[in-house]
Amino acid sequence: MNIPSHLKKFVGSGMTSQRARDRLVERLRQQGIRSEPVLEAIRFTPRHVFVDEAIASHAYDNTALPIGFNQTISQPYIVARMTELLLRHGIPETVLEIGTGCGYQTAILAQLVPQVYSVERIQPLLQSTEQRLEELGLRNIQLQYSDGQWGWETHAPYQGILVTAAPNEIPYALLDQLAVGGSLILPLGDQYQTQTLTLIQRDEQGIHQQALDAVSFVPLCNGTQ
Ligand code: SAH
Repeated sequence: MNIPSHLKKFVGSGMTSQRARDRLVERLRQQGIRSEPVLEAIRFTPRHVFVDEAIASHAYDNTALPIGFNQTISQPYIVARMTELLLRHGIPETVLEIGTGCGYQTAILAQLVPQVYSVERIQPLLQSTEQRLEELGLRNIQLQYSDGQWGWETHAPYQGILVTAAPNEIPYALLDQLAVGGSLILPLGDQYQTQTLTLIQRDEQGIHQQALDAVSFVPLCNGTQ
């Protein structure tokens, strides 16, 4: 796959170059990420555009980084892992993301699924992210400023729901808005302990819950800011 034309002006140089992204992809492969479409999306998404210029040289380290407002951009491995889980049985038509943040996970999703909806509770963060995603030419994304614990009823049900901040319990609205045959992927647990990446599947029989990896996310907070 060649670099998509709308992303060409963001290729970067030195620490933010295509070589840096290629190295990141090799590390993700070594860590067990197998989905080629996911790896390709990461290969061509300029993560340095999603963080402050002052830390852009660290954009392709496999770590979380600060994005202001006490929030972080998720570690590339975790983005890859969650996206791979979401796509494990095929491409979901619509995906709801809770916790847009700087929009990196949103951008990866938008290159892999037809329609992405994403909700964020910090307004200034959402505003800058909206502009960034537009500049990147990603048009199949709709954003909303609200408390994502309540999901986004308007476009429900979703075949995939991905939560990028950790609640203590599964928000019931998200279960409600999950389509039959769909998957909900979320970190579950207290913010001061290790959380558990959890996969929830809905089928004709009901809800099935599976505990996966130990992870560390910022908390899912109440209300908007
Ligand atoms: N998806 C981002 C991760 C951002 S960190 C990435 O690609 O890196 C988690 C985000 O969840 C933060 O921006 C935080 O403000 C947001 N968040 C926390 N609680 C929320 C809630 N109740 N509703 C919507 N967003 C929430």
